[in-house]
Amino acid sequence: MTQATSPHATIIGAGIIGISAAAYLQRAGYRVTVIDRVPPGEGCSFGNAGGIAFCEIVPTIHPRILMKVPGWLMDPLGPLTIRWSYLPKALPWFIAAGRNAMPDRVKAITEARANLALRAVSDLESLLSEAGASDLLVKTDTLRLYDSEAQYHAEAHEHAVKKAHGYEAKRLTGDECREIEPALSKHIPCGAFHGGWYFVKNPERVVKSIAATVTRNGGEIVTDEVASIAQDGGRASEVVLNSGGRRRLDQLVICAGAWSHLLAREFGDRVLLEAERGYHMVLPEPGITLTRSLTYASTPGAATPMEMGLRLAGTDEFGGLTAAPNWRRADNLWRVFKKLLPDLSEPGPDATRWMGHRPGTPDSLPVISRASRMGNVWYGFGHGHMGLTWGPSTGRLLSELMSGVKANIDMAPFRVERF
Ligand SMILES: Cc1cc2nc3c(=O)[nH]c(=O)nc-3n(C[C@H](O)[C@H](O)[C@H](O)COP(=O)(O)OP(=O)(O)OC[C@H]3O[C@@H](n4cnc5c(N)ncnc54)[C@H](O)[C@@H]3O)c2cc1C
Repeated sequence: MTQATSPHATIIGAGIIGISAAAYLQRAGYRVTVIDRVPPGEGCSFGNAGGIAFCEIVPTIHPRILMKVPGWLMDPLGPLTIRWSYLPKALPWFIAAGRNAMPDRVKAITEARANLALRAVSDLESLLSEAGASDLLVKTDTLRLYDSEAQYHAEAHEHAVKKAHGYEAKRLTGDECREIEPALSKHIPCGAFHGGWYFVKNPERVVKSIAATVTRNGGEIVTDEVASIAQDGGRASEVVLNSGGRRRLDQLVICAGAWSHLLAREFGDRVLLEAERGYHMVLPEPGITLTRSLTYASTPGAATPMEMGLRLAGTDEFGGLTAAPNWRRADNLWRVFKKLLPDLSEPGPDATRWMGHRPGTPDSLPVISRASRMGNVWYGFGHGHMGLTWGPSTGRLLSELMSGVKANIDMAPFRVERF
């Protein structure tokens, strides 16, 4: 195919999903333009916990989690909170989430998540290798920590489900945990290797490195906001930018993270998408050393050793796209991990705090799909807690869908029509 005749894709969103899509579409012979109001990797993909958590196949919302929710909601700084004034707006999402916590749905969602995880590591490795940034991925398994033996055994069902898919958690005594990570508290009674959870040393640099490859391969990255999208005869015909610029469209791919439903609505697709707001704190001088990422059974979140320091990330706040951050939630992450890491230093003036919007669907599955009514519009969004993990495979799957290549997995669970 020559430059002039090769197809062109315009991708809205330069997070891990949009940039992965751009890279894989180039491999499939597309010319690409990526448009984002911020530079690559500076949306939600900037500040995540860095986990390549391919063993996390059980949905975010499942019956055992539902039982914990009332307790969590009582604590304004707890792992899950809702800004109450926002509840009426989020209610349809929560009702749908409740339906998806039924056993038959959990089983089906688990299968779909397991499928998406199959090539998560190799697809990421492929992109990082081309970008000359393979060193960003650390293939060391994450350690999960418990407050009691009973807490470990309470996860037996999830462990069994994961084991059935080849991800086996390996239990360790407290002393074994401390032998591996000497910074851990002597009060921790036991831990477990997740059995499939690596990490990256800098999620922003992952996206920026892949973006540099996209540019090197002839792709265009435009820093601007898409204000509107014109339609003509069942096709998206043109994007109008805030700067006043206009771009004619061949194929359009929406990878706009937590804002994607606003664009999909323009095409007649109603998607239940909520911003699950998460926080992080980075301690450049944490006073301790870790060789791997840690998770904690009592409070969802992770502590990850990154090249810029120790990142403590997590919490889930439902409050929409525009509310101001509550920085006490970031500060509280430090208090949570201080219990596990007694020598963790106090956050000094060099500590940084961040809030980002996870694009969450009520069934813990992304949308990877053609638009229901528009022949040339494609969706890749809604990855919730798993976007860094599933982003590269989503890019590959989108390029396959758009090129008419049969996918290696069943794509039906990711269709936009399911809402
Ligand atoms: C605290 C926290 C911890 C996390 N930890 C992990 C983890 O360990 N592992 C994991 O796999 N995932 C994790 N995640 C989730 C992961 O970060 C997200 O799922 C992922 O970043 C989503 O990527 P995205 O490309 O869809 O969205 P984004 O990175 O947000 O990219 C979307 C982009 O679209 C742009 N955009 C939107 N609308 C427009 C418009 N109209 N015009 C122009 N541009 C537009 C935005 O500016 C944005 O840059 C975590 C998230 C948080 C908040």
